Amino acid sequence: MRVCVIGAGPGGIVTAKVLLENGFDVTVLDKYEQVGGVWSSGGCYDGLANQSALRIFEFADLPNSLHFADAEDTQRYLEKYAETFGVLARLRPGTEVISVRPVDGPGRPGAAGWSVDSRPAGDGTAEVHREEYDHVVVASGAHHHPQLPGLPGRESFRGTVLHSNEVRAGTFTDRRVVVVGGGKSALDLVTRAAREATSATLVQRKVNWMIPERFLLGLVGYKWILFTRLGEALLPRYHDPACIRPVDRLDERVKRALWWLITRDLLLSTGLYGLPKHLRPDRPLPFHLAHAGVMPRGYVRAVRRGLITAKVSAVEAYTDQGLRLATGEEVAADVIVFATGHRKVFPFLDPSVPVHDSAGRLRLYRGIVPPGADRLGFVGFRQVFNNIMGMELTAHWLACHFRATLRTTPSEQQMREAVEARLAWQEQVLPGSGGYDFGPYDIHCADELLHDMGLPSRRAGNLLAEYLLPGGVARRYRGLTRSRRPE
Ligand SMILES: Cc1cc2nc3c(=O)[nH]c(=O)nc-3n(C[C@H](O)[C@H](O)[C@H](O)COP(=O)(O)OP(=O)(O)OC[C@H]3O[C@@H](n4cnc5c(N)ncnc54)[C@H](O)[C@@H]3O)c2cc1C
Repeated sequence: MRVCVIGAGPGGIVTAKVLLENGFDVTVLDKYEQVGGVWSSGGCYDGLANQSALRIFEFADLPNSLHFADAEDTQRYLEKYAETFGVLARLRPGTEVISVRPVDGPGRPGAAGWSVDSRPAGDGTAEVHREEYDHVVVASGAHHHPQLPGLPGRESFRGTVLHSNEVRAGTFTDRRVVVVGGGKSALDLVTRAAREATSATLVQRKVNWMIPERFLLGLVGYKWILFTRLGEALLPRYHDPACIRPVDRLDERVKRALWWLITRDLLLSTGLYGLPKHLRPDRPLPFHLAHAGVMPRGYVRAVRRGLITAKVSAVEAYTDQGLRLATGEEVAADVIVFATGHRKVFPFLDPSVPVHDSAGRLRLYRGIVPPGADRLGFVGFRQVFNNIMGMELTAHWLACHFRATLRTTPSEQQMREAVEARLAWQEQVLPGSGGYDFGPYDIHCADELLHDMGLPSRRAGNLLAEYLLPGGVARRYRGLTRSRRPE
């Protein structure tokens, strides 16, 4: 069976590897010249570093001894992975997919396969190449299409306006920089601006939670708290009853007390306690953990030293000198960087394929397949903290789905109902996650897919290891292709 994988970022290459070992005939198309997606040269802002601790940014079958690595080293790991498992030989780099349409035939879109149009990237006049595939996997990245707010007055501002993806070496040198946003990219970039620019200002609508590299006053790496079954048991209960264990039924009062302690430790360990109260997050944990990145080194210090001016406000409009905030204050800038995230969109996908709802939320069953279409899957759109591991499990699930060997194949209606239930739960416990971000539920999300594949979710040799050692890591899920149910 011929499969087209769109994208050669981490999601695309691990999918290609898993599908190849499951006997599929795989072609990978990517508009970049290198594998790695976000981590390839030009895939994100200059100076991007990996916030993953040891054994987190790792696929099951290739150890990665790097942690908190820079983008170049991360890309090298991904390239080695693609080479080792025969994915490079299946890659057509510099190829942009411009259209994916269902092949005409009876049944739902995709029942007879998919027609994929591509052409050399960046050459709008080049000849279009058309091919038909039995299946298509969209791994085109959740951080690929910049999202910028449509503020009035752009024509009056004479400086430079960039999305965070576009920051390159030298962008900030000797300029007044204003960064808009409150996530990991915004904090990374304003910390960098504090070193390189004439002035560095951060404007954030609200202050987000950030995770320290190490908890308990620097003694314990974050994976020992967040990536264990016991750690996940402290979260609000997962929506899928098949994934609930006795430990998840911990008394709510106990959970609240433990979160009170974790919150204090988190404020101390990130250094946020040292900042004025309005620059600390004021929303309760764990509900807003989904958007938390790892606190960049140097951010808190730079704010305390006055090298970063941090403001909490929405932005209202451009002025000729910079930006006007909702508070009425004006901030002057030579460069404005919007670290305001990315749209989860698929411009090449035929509009007959329902992927979003009217609120723009992704409506994918299990975060992987659209209920109204066949032979089509998405990888990289059910984000958890360790999304590398999540993508690898998604790839295994898709291999089973394409071969119709999942434990059950729900009807379209059942899929829609499951999507509804999942979105409703998500809005409650991970507000604003848009059908995409499942944040700290690494192990529960993994259990869900293992359950569908008929595989045991207990992965460690004994109970202590099962509950206390980091479980949200790919090496726990080695050998899944061998251990799956026979076809
Ligand atoms: C600032 C930032 C920091 C991050 N830090 C971390 C981190 O520390 N640890 C971590 O695990 N994750 C991190 N992430 C998440 C990151 O997105 C993932 O690590 C990973 O790169 C996602 O992989 P992906 O394959 O889904 O998408 P991507 O890496 O975005 O790859 C998608 C690929 O699809 C290709 N593509 C898109 N459209 C087309 C088309 N039409 N035709 C052909 N090819 C196409 C792109 O060229 C790209 O190569 C970070 C993300 C950002 C933005």
